[in-house]
Amino acid sequence: MTEPGAVVVPPLRSPAPAPTPARLPRLDHVAYGGDYNPEQWPKDVWDLDHEAFDAARITTVTLGVFAWSLTQPAEDVYDFTVLDEIVQRAADAGRWICLATGTGALSPWIARAYPEVTRVDFQGRKHRYGQRHNACWSSPAFRRLAAGIAGKVAERYGDHPNVVAWHVGNEYGGDGGACYCDLCAAEFRAWLRERYGTLEELNEAWCTTFWSHRFTDWDEIEPPSALTEHWKDRRYTAFQGITLDYRRFSTDNAIRQFAEEKAAIRAHSDLPVTTNLMGFFEPLDYHRWAPHLDFASWDNYPPRSDEPWRTALTHDLVRGLKDGAPFWLMEQTPTVTASRDVNPVRRPGVMRLWSWQAVAHGADSVLFFQMRASRGACEMTHGAVLDHSGRLDTRAFREVAGLGAELEGLGDLVLGGRTPARCALLVDWDSWWAVEMADGPNRLIGYVPTALSWGRAFWDAGAQLDVVPVTADLSGYDVVAAPLLHMVKGDLPARLRGVAERGGTVLTGYLSGRVDEDDRRFLADVPGPLAGLAGVRVAETDAAEPAVGNPVAFDGGPVVDGRMVFEVLVPEGAEVMARYRADFYAEAPAVTRHRVRAADGGEGHVWYVGTQLDQPGVTHVVRRALARHGLLGPYAEIEGLELATRVTPSGAVVDFLLHHGPAEVTVPLHAAGEDVLTGRRYAVGDRVTLRPTDVVVLRRDEPTEVAVPG
Ligand SMILES: [Zn+2]
Repeated sequence: MTEPGAVVVPPLRSPAPAPTPARLPRLDHVAYGGDYNPEQWPKDVWDLDHEAFDAARITTVTLGVFAWSLTQPAEDVYDFTVLDEIVQRAADAGRWICLATGTGALSPWIARAYPEVTRVDFQGRKHRYGQRHNACWSSPAFRRLAAGIAGKVAERYGDHPNVVAWHVGNEYGGDGGACYCDLCAAEFRAWLRERYGTLEELNEAWCTTFWSHRFTDWDEIEPPSALTEHWKDRRYTAFQGITLDYRRFSTDNAIRQFAEEKAAIRAHSDLPVTTNLMGFFEPLDYHRWAPHLDFASWDNYPPRSDEPWRTALTHDLVRGLKDGAPFWLMEQTPTVTASRDVNPVRRPGVMRLWSWQAVAHGADSVLFFQMRASRGACEMTHGAVLDHSGRLDTRAFREVAGLGAELEGLGDLVLGGRTPARCALLVDWDSWWAVEMADGPNRLIGYVPTALSWGRAFWDAGAQLDVVPVTADLSGYDVVAAPLLHMVKGDLPARLRGVAERGGTVLTGYLSGRVDEDDRRFLADVPGPLAGLAGVRVAETDAAEPAVGNPVAFDGGPVVDGRMVFEVLVPEGAEVMARYRADFYAEAPAVTRHRVRAADGGEGHVWYVGTQLDQPGVTHVVRRALARHGLLGPYAEIEGLELATRVTPSGAVVDFLLHHGPAEVTVPLHAAGEDVLTGRRYAVGDRVTLRPTDVVVLRRDEPTEVAVPG
C-alpha cells in the first residue's frame, strides 16, 4: 500500500498532464466473467448462480456498480450488510472481484437533500431526480459524497484478498457529457482564468471582436448552450472557441471527480483503478483522461454486427490510451442489447469470435454485462449469461461455458502481450470537435466515420495498427495516417516530418491543417503548418450533397469516387497522383504525394488526399503505402479474415486468425506453430480452413523478429 493521499487530485486546469504507465491487476489468467448484481434477486438464487459460474469457468465478477443506495441509505448511515455477503460469497467461490464505488447513479435522498446534484441540461432545463449518469461534477455535495462512499468501500474491502481492481463510477458521460448549471458556470470561469490568465488573452483566443463579444468581466461568460451561443444542437455554435473550451472543461471536470474518488480509494488501497469508457465517445476527451487511469477499460456495444473493423479499431483506441499496454474489456453482451430500438441477437459463434477479437487486440479480460438478467426496469431484456430462468441449457450459457474452457486453457499465455504495430492512426478529440462544429464547408462530414474508413483499410490489409493521440511518440512507425487533422497543435508537424525524414509514409488530406489550438484559422495557405510537408496548397474547397460524386482517376490506377468535400490542389513540390474528372476543376489534382528527402539518403512520402474517397479509394492509397514498407498482411486478399498479433513479455508471438467473413475460406498458413485452442500443429504453408466465426490462436514456434514500439 502506498502512503495515504498518494493520488494528487488535479486542479481543474487546461494543459493535459503527462502520460503515466499502465498498472494492471495482477492475474495469472484472462479475467473472465462480468457485472454481477445479486442484490437484485433473492439470496436462494445466489448459490445457483455460483454453481453456474463454476460450470462456465467464471473467474471474475464486477460487484456493486449500482449499489450506492444500499451501501449508504442515508447521509450518516453506511450499511454494507448485503455487499459483505455478496463479496464473501464470490470470495468463497474463489473468484476475483472488480469492486465498484457505485457512484454511477444517484440515490433519491441525495437529490432531495442537495438539489444542486442534478444537472441543468443543454436546453437549460434543471433536472429533478431520475435515471443515472446525471450528477453535476461541479456539485460540492456530489463530489464530497461520491469520494466519501469510495473511501468507505475501499476502507472496508481494500485488504480483501479477492479484490483485484477498483471500478469508479460507470460510463461517465450522461446527456452530452456536460452540465450547464450555475455551479458549472463558475467552475468554467475559474478554468478559463487558469487557461488564459487575462481576459485580453481569452478575447484574443475566442476572436470576440466578431459579433461584439469582447468580455470585460469574467462573470459575463456563459456556458455555451441552447440558451446562449448555440442553435439546433451541440454542434451548432456561433463561437467555436467557447464551445471547444467548454468541452475541454467538461472533460477536466469529470476527470477531477473521478480523481477525487481515486484519491479516496488510494488512502486505503494500492490496487489499480479504472472506469469503464465507451470507445469513440464524443463528449469526453479520453486522451486527457488516460493519465489518470491505472489501466484502461471499455464497454463494447457495436452499433452494427457487420463492421468488425469498428470494434477492432476501438480496441486499438483504448489500447492507445496507455501507450499500448493491455486493457480490460469491461462489458459486452453475451446475447443481445436492450438500449436500441431494434436489438438483434448475436448469431451462434459471434460472441466467441468478438471475445477473441478483444483478446487479440490487447484485452486481458473478457467481461460481460451481465452475469444474470435484471428482474425489472429498463435493462430487464438486456442479455445475460443466465436468463431469468437460470437454465444452463440455453445457447448463451453453452457458448459462455465453451469460451470459459478455452480461456482456461489459454492460461497466462497472452497476459501483458503488446501489439507489434508499425502503423499508426492519429485520433484527436479536439480535431473531432472542431471539424464537426465548423460552419462549412460540409456539415455532413463525420470524424469517426472518416477515421474508421482509413482504419478499415489497414484492418482489411492485415497491417497491425495502433490508434494513438496526436501527442504520441511517432518514432516507431513506418506509416502514419492522420485523416481530418483539422486542428494542428504543438510540435506535431515536426514529428510528422520526422516520420517522412526516417523514410516513412504520412497520409493526410482534406480539411486538415485548418485551425490552431484555439480554433482560429492560420493566416496562411491551407493546409497551414502541413503545407510544406505535404508540398501542396489548397486553392479552393468545393462541397456537395452525399449523393453527388466526382470521379477521381489515379495515374495508372483505378478510377474511384470522391464525395462531400473537393479540394482543388496546387502542387508545390508534390507530384500529382490522381485528378478529378468532373466539374469546373476537372483535371485538377485531387491526390498528391510529396517525396521528402530522408536522413539516410532515401525518401519519405507524404500523401495529401483532397476529397473523401470511397472505400476502394482509401484502400488503394493505404495499400500503396503499406506495400512500400512490406506491411501488407498475408491474408490481405481474403475477405473478412482478420489477423491480429500480440507479443508477450517473454517474447512469444501469438497470432489470432479471426474469420468475420460470410464464406468458408482455406488459406496457406503464414507461420509455423500450434493452435492453442485445438493443439493442432502447423507448418508454414499448411492449408487451414476457417468457417465463418472460426478462430485460430497460433503460438508461433520461433520467437520471430517482431519489434514492439514502446
Ligand atoms: Zn453543473
